[in-house]
Amino acid sequence: KKTASKSTARERAPAPEVRLSSPTKIIFPDRNITKQQVADYYKGVAPHLLREIAGRPLSVIRCPDGVGKACFFQKHHTAGLEIVRFVRLKEEAGINANYLVVDDVAGLMELVQFNALEFHPWGAHADDPDCADRVIFDLDPGPGVAFAEVKRSAAHVRDLLQQLGLQSFLRATGGKGLHVVVPLKPANDWKLVKKFAKGFAEALAASDPDRWLATATLKLRPGKIFVDYLRNGRGATAVASYSLRARAGAPCAVPLAWRELAALKRGDAFDVDATLARIKGRRKDPWADIDTLRQDLSAWG
Ligand code: ATP
Ligand code: MN
Ligand code: MN
Repeated sequence: KKTASKSTARERAPAPEVRLSSPTKIIFPDRNITKQQVADYYKGVAPHLLREIAGRPLSVIRCPDGVGKACFFQKHHTAGLEIVRFVRLKEEAGINANYLVVDDVAGLMELVQFNALEFHPWGAHADDPDCADRVIFDLDPGPGVAFAEVKRSAAHVRDLLQQLGLQSFLRATGGKGLHVVVPLKPANDWKLVKKFAKGFAEALAASDPDRWLATATLKLRPGKIFVDYLRNGRGATAVASYSLRARAGAPCAVPLAWRELAALKRGDAFDVDATLARIKGRRKDPWADIDTLRQDLSAWG
């Protein structure tokens, strides 16, 4: 209740209505979920999702013909978008490109109209793209790793971070794994963030090589959890909390309180309905403090 009413002036401004074409088109065939229902979901979670994506360079996964058909990952602004703005940023090759930036509900709904299903922000803001305000440890279980083991690993990462004086936040990805997210304030240079994330992952792997994998290989290793620290680099993205996933069952990425970890059954435990019900029923946003904590990595410079 508290977070929903604490909207910014932008969110309160009357949003231009985006007309939704093909509202009856089926997007999740296994659940008979239509484009209208996807739009209704995103309207429902908009204030919460916007806290995660507003003002950040954003990639989307678009599925024009629904899940199970061709979907594509889009980083750049394209013709036809009128509400969604862009920020011109230097890419790795040194060439400039126009990155998508959403500021408000109208922009979000315009991307939904363009069949965006998943939202993947940078860990940085469009006006400060060279500094990260989030470190993300993406725990990717290889074949044969039980979810209980993924949970144990996430708790271990949390404890190690705590020992370094860093508070972290838990996310069920809506997929196979979990994310452990460390907010940074003030934001830190990507170089430092990358160095920290890589060092942390490599130390984990060295401490228990049978359990952890910290090297980026094309394939996940059976029985091991890949600590994907590569989410931490300029231009890298990770799925936003409250994003739908273009996967069977219409699962969502969901922010959790650490005390909820014990009861969690899977990374994709929350579908559209469960996610909306969770927001309605809860007393407090489990990530309420994420933007107010002040912690940074300058000690690791
Ligand atoms: P899971 O829990 O199943 O691992 P996840 O969201 O963590 O879910 P990953 O495969 O571990 O999925 O992470 C892939 C990340 O890489 C995505 O979150 C996305 O932001 C980023 N990414 C970069 N390029 C692409 C691409 N072409 N297609 C999909 N994801 C991409
Ligand atoms: Mn992952
Ligand atoms: Mn990954």
